[in-house]
Amino acid sequence: MPDLLSLEEALARILERSQPLSSEIVSLENAVGRVVAEPGRARADLPPFPSSAMDGFAVRGAETPGTLPISLRIAAGTPFAGSLSPGTASAIATGGAVPEGADTIVPVEQVVEENGSVRIAQPARADAHIRPRGGDVREGAVVVPAGVRIGPAQIGALAAAGVADIRCFRKPRVSVLATGDELRTPGETLEPGQIFESNRPTIAAVLEASGAEVQLLPVVRDEEAAHRDALARGLAADVLVSSGGVSMGPHDLVRRVAAELGVEEIFWGVAVKPGKPLSFGVRNKTLVFGLPGNPVSALVGALVFVRPALLALQGLADPRPRFQVGRVETPLRRNEHRDEFIRARRTVDDRSVLLEPVTGQESHMIVRAASADALVHVPRGVGEIAAGDAVRYLDL
Ligand code: AMP
Ligand code: MG
Repeated sequence: MPDLLSLEEALARILERSQPLSSEIVSLENAVGRVVAEPGRARADLPPFPSSAMDGFAVRGAETPGTLPISLRIAAGTPFAGSLSPGTASAIATGGAVPEGADTIVPVEQVVEENGSVRIAQPARADAHIRPRGGDVREGAVVVPAGVRIGPAQIGALAAAGVADIRCFRKPRVSVLATGDELRTPGETLEPGQIFESNRPTIAAVLEASGAEVQLLPVVRDEEAAHRDALARGLAADVLVSSGGVSMGPHDLVRRVAAELGVEEIFWGVAVKPGKPLSFGVRNKTLVFGLPGNPVSALVGALVFVRPALLALQGLADPRPRFQVGRVETPLRRNEHRDEFIRARRTVDDRSVLLEPVTGQESHMIVRAASADALVHVPRGVGEIAAGDAVRYLDL
């Protein structure tokens, strides 16, 4: 293999070539998970008018304490009631428009209502329990900026601000294929020498969770013509992700056939474990990832390298892997040449996240990986990371 690229350098070369796709208008009900291309702006002040935060009575604070006749009754949605006559109170519900003249709300729990009047025992502080007009956002101001992924709070914010549709980046279309004569799909019967195919569903799961529209291509035999057909089909997508066939064996055909089809290889070989023989190339605007075949290598490659590219294609402000910080519960020996990704189980004590490596760290052990919920990054180097030391990890 050539000199291995560092994790950082490999990611930099991928992200350099992962420019945001075109954008389209998306209705709010279809916008969850999409990344905003043009800031969503408020169509009105929010709240649109001064409103009550409590069920209670709108009064002039200066007229309390005292007993005030009730001159108005305002519910949420009651059209503006005009102004409050001096020396009176208005019953008001949460969300009701505060009448002009009133400057405070006395909660219903703090008063006695009898014979059409309300008795207020304590002086009411001005502005209490009134939500000022525009207190959340002003008309025209940005509700959700470009580059942000729309989650539940953003959906709520856009709806509350009167935004019915919003310009978002297009979802990347990704083709996923797996190579290998030994592969049978789950449900089929294994003959001697065969194993079940698990990389396509694994990779598809990572990519769909990253906002992609995934098309699964059939399993590809280890033979040039089959590779040519499958890769050519996959190259019609925005991103093509293959698994297997990128090492140095006689049956590893992906890189050679991809090159014949016009894919320019940007790099092959990254100093990571698992996942070393990963290849990355481009053809026109299509990004081409060749992930190694071992199931944990494919999973790590999809999470660490393909996912950031997809997030960048969607215009996310920071597409790089979102590392978090925890502490290892057992010492970890560093690998001198490669950054390692260790599968670990995560617990939380009262101060920090604790990470305990699972048994079975070999790259074919996908079932062991499934018992983990964190991918601990162990930077290459000498010596070991001591128990209790801080490390970075990715959620699995
Ligand atoms: P390769 O990278 O093609 O040399 O494959 C490396 C190892 O991963 C071999 O043991 C393959 O059988 C296994 N493998 C390759 N592709 C898959 C797949 N799609 N699902 C499960 N295992 C695979
Ligand atoms: Mg193979």
